[in-house]
Amino acid sequence: MSIIQFRGVSKHFDELRVLDEVDLSIEQGEVVVLIGPSGSGKSTLLRCINGLEQITGGDLRVDDISVLAGNARLREIRQEAGMVFQQFNLFPQLTALQNVAFGPRHVRGKSRREAEEIGLELLDKVGLKERAHHYPAELSGGQQQRVAIARALAVRPKVMLFDEPTSALDPELKQEVLNVMRNLAEEGMTMVVVTHEMAFARQVGSRLIFMEHGKIAVDGDPCEMLCNPTNPRLKDFLRHVH
Ligand code: ADP
Ligand code: MG
Repeated sequence: MSIIQFRGVSKHFDELRVLDEVDLSIEQGEVVVLIGPSGSGKSTLLRCINGLEQITGGDLRVDDISVLAGNARLREIRQEAGMVFQQFNLFPQLTALQNVAFGPRHVRGKSRREAEEIGLELLDKVGLKERAHHYPAELSGGQQQRVAIARALAVRPKVMLFDEPTSALDPELKQEVLNVMRNLAEEGMTMVVVTHEMAFARQVGSRLIFMEHGKIAVDGDPCEMLCNPTNPRLKDFLRHVH
């Protein structure tokens, strides 16, 4: 059974068709990198996986739960699919530790102490244990994004979704976030990553998908697609991101 399964999935915003009958199966342990021009539907595809957007056609299952199965099941899906956004989205009035402990405490129903233990363990994993009691405003962008990754992991998701996680960061801060993601991939986490970091796609991705106009235009091996692109529009796209 695939951990994520799109069957003929469409998404419309009124007249605008943003996903066009997408078929896509993602297996446990895959690291799928999504690329494509702005407006091609990458963020929408990610957001449909954890129910931030509702699909308007077809069926989409996460760990065999349909995103159309109702609110209780949707909450399960949100716990199984953690999301990391371009703009970090930390709670500004909570410390790093409180941000990370929030999910275990309020979503998983852990005691305060257990939630803090999980929080510290995950801050340690992203190299920020010594920043546990700092507020987001006291952290660099790269540190905030690492806290955001720890926060998503704290709910023990089966899949991690990343929407341009390094696009808001200065070049020298991107690498510390990419390294955390690379470690996660090496541990076997299933990941779907929208990014313009082609070195990451080539080195860490197990699969690369090029989207265009709400459709999957090319789906294949990252090295082959990046070194020998045959699709002319992919070729053109790569000329612009390099
Ligand atoms: P990408 O992430 O590839 O840049 P998006 O998934 O964000 O693309 O957007 C795809 C298209 O859907 C764009 O044309 C965008 O303007 C449109 N879109 C995205 N979200 C909404 C929304 N909430 N309402 C209306 N249109 C939207
Ligand atoms: Mg986007």
